[in-house]
Amino acid sequence: MSDSTPIPSEATEIATQVASGAISALAVTEAHLTAIDAREGEIHAFNTVTADDARATAEAIDARVAAGEAVGPLAGVPVAVKDNMCTNGVATTCSSKMLEGWVPPYDATVVERLREAGAVIVGKTNLDEFAMGSSTENSAFGPSRNPVDTSRVPGGSSGGSAAAVAAGFAPISLGSDTGGSIRQPAALCGVVGMKPTYGAVSRYGLIAFASSLDQIGPFSRTVADSAALFEVIAGHDGRDSTSIPEPAADVTSQLDAGVDGLRVGVITELMGEGPLEGFEPEVIAQTRAAAEALASKGAIVGDVSVPSTIYGLSAYYQIAPAEASSNLARYDGVRYGHRAGEGANTAAMMKASRTAGFGAEVKRRIMLGTYALSAGYYDAFYGKAQRVRTLIIDDLAAAYENFDVLLSPTSPCVAFPIGAVSDPLTMYLNDTCTIPSNLAGHPAISVPFGTGADDLPVGVQVLAPLQGEAVMFRAAAALEALAPAAGGER
Ligand code: GLN
Repeated sequence: MSDSTPIPSEATEIATQVASGAISALAVTEAHLTAIDAREGEIHAFNTVTADDARATAEAIDARVAAGEAVGPLAGVPVAVKDNMCTNGVATTCSSKMLEGWVPPYDATVVERLREAGAVIVGKTNLDEFAMGSSTENSAFGPSRNPVDTSRVPGGSSGGSAAAVAAGFAPISLGSDTGGSIRQPAALCGVVGMKPTYGAVSRYGLIAFASSLDQIGPFSRTVADSAALFEVIAGHDGRDSTSIPEPAADVTSQLDAGVDGLRVGVITELMGEGPLEGFEPEVIAQTRAAAEALASKGAIVGDVSVPSTIYGLSAYYQIAPAEASSNLARYDGVRYGHRAGEGANTAAMMKASRTAGFGAEVKRRIMLGTYALSAGYYDAFYGKAQRVRTLIIDDLAAAYENFDVLLSPTSPCVAFPIGAVSDPLTMYLNDTCTIPSNLAGHPAISVPFGTGADDLPVGVQVLAPLQGEAVMFRAAAALEALAPAAGGER
């Protein structure tokens, strides 16, 4: 090996070369730390860069390779972790003043599995505060910027994780997806982002937003890397009571099986043909082109109506805030979090702590959720939203009687300028296409597919039924191979 050995851009290739001794994990880490040094000031993908820990981990992996010991499937692969997952000894903030300076005494299960697989954690990525948002502008520590065009948002809430991969700071990263927070930023940054089946990946050590919806999943540059990272983090964990009691599904062996004979349904309500608004024509055109490309490889493509998807957004914005209002009650300045107003009585101290610790969007969600759950309104709001959730599950089940996977845009629009969307409802519309999978608990992936307005990346979403990750990745790999080249950085 020499210092000039090129570093591969794919995680799986890096791991192969590190394990064989063709490149050193330390050289891989240094190359990525150099990339971070060069552009992080402009992008702000990270809340914390763990350069020293990363070097030490890389050196330990190189020592194991030299000693002839087995190293894991992600040996020497730099990975960025969203700052709402606990990392032992490294600050975990949720991009909130409420948790600023908090250092967890334990690793989230996904972090533990990354370490066991030989991955090198390079830092904790920025997010919308407590993962509430679609642009990463709600971070208490300032927005992240889209590496494709730094005047634009990277999407959210996992904007830092998407930006880190798009900027070449790490070949893979982890995000969390409650209503689209992995898939939408992946689409806006031109990378791959995947939300697993609810319960496929342990949520132990993920700071809760809406517990019936939250899932952790991978960002990557390729579908193969997404599948590889999914296999590392998935599988039963006794510390999460909602974890599916099964080992991780094998999704990599069928990746190249192609789509010949696969039935692909395009969801008409998410193609701008129904009452839902805000779809950019270029995004619709690329999604249509993606469907036609799959058909050219033997897929049986048809349109399918999933009528209740039009109510998904309304249901989600009752259910998610309701669960958030309950989950965030623990940040009272006593049990957890920032404390202000010391010396007054307890109620005044708690009020002062929560007033100072939470940002505007988090407060809005807590108020919305508390209202939706209040005695006189529970059935009219929360109860009704839960009934819509059941309708969506039923409608998707009907669609899957005739189709193996479904297709839609990931986001109705391409990346918008920082500061351009100030009204919360307009921001919520970003989640129109991603929310149905969260409400149903189904897996879905965003694959870059050409460009839209201003040459900005478009993501096409492949949806699959419960535990349908293998067929979803298979369709996604085919789509990736057929995708027109993206515009590239400017
Ligand atoms: N944008 C959605 C929200 O603000 C989704 C967030 C997420 O998936 N974490 O709630």
